[in-house]
Amino acid sequence: TARRAEEPGFGEPDPAHGKHLAPEVIALRAATKTYAGGLTALDHADLTIRQGELLAIVGPSGSGKSTLLNLMGTLDRPTSGRVEVLGHDVAALSDRRLSAVRARWIGFVFQQFFLAPHLTALENVANGLLYHGIGHSGRRDRAAEALRRVGLGHRLDHRPHELSGGERQRTAIARAVVARPRIVLADEPTGALDSASGAAVVDLLRDLNAQGTTIAVITHDQALAAALPRRVRILDGRIREDGRTVLSAAQPAGSGPEAAS
Ligand code: ADP
Ligand code: MG
Repeated sequence: TARRAEEPGFGEPDPAHGKHLAPEVIALRAATKTYAGGLTALDHADLTIRQGELLAIVGPSGSGKSTLLNLMGTLDRPTSGRVEVLGHDVAALSDRRLSAVRARWIGFVFQQFFLAPHLTALENVANGLLYHGIGHSGRRDRAAEALRRVGLGHRLDHRPHELSGGERQRTAIARAVVARPRIVLADEPTGALDSASGAAVVDLLRDLNAQGTTIAVITHDQALAAALPRRVRILDGRIREDGRTVLSAAQPAGSGPEAAS
């Protein structure tokens, strides 16, 4: 795979360090979300996530974490301010175009897994490729490959009730990545798991990140957050950077086109 660093126009110079930074995949600029009823759940949030980052979003219940993730994932739009995903200003895209960008480039993982109970693990994961122009057998092949990647090659024909909690979440992760997204957004992915299965899920997210996927993980698990390279803290809808390692373009980055076609 081609290194993006070798392409013209890569990143931008970082004046503080005199080196080139990895390109932005998500940028919030004074993004504010006020819900109907008047509650401002996110207040002038500024956040830039660069290709290849792995970051934790932490904060107490009700602080605005899911609201932030929904804006980052284009599941919702800001009431004011700006959200850019892979160079697209979400305000400039129709709902249809936004869905296409989301389906192609973003994978989601949620605390409650959201697997279809009547479908096997393979069928659940294959459904992550619907609307990608891939035929039935191609979808099944890719789904089996994704399940093997998360260590569930022996669980293809199991239904969710026949899987442990950790296996269900790993199935949900396989579904999130089967279309090879650039970004994975996980909202409390270990929240419903015991600590051993939670640790396995975290290892998996680290592996995906090491292979080039940009990942943001919401967690209330302080130990997990502390182990990730960057932490963003939210309190009452306000964001504060808590610690990070800046990624430069010299590090390996993911491949693939920058924007949806
Ligand atoms: P967290 O994920 O950190 O628990 P949320 O982003 O879910 O926080 O919620 C932040 C605040 O916004 C909370 O006060 C919550 O009640 C409120 N909220 C979330 N979603 C909605 C909604 N769809 N309509 C109205 N208020 C909402
Ligand atoms: Mg939440």
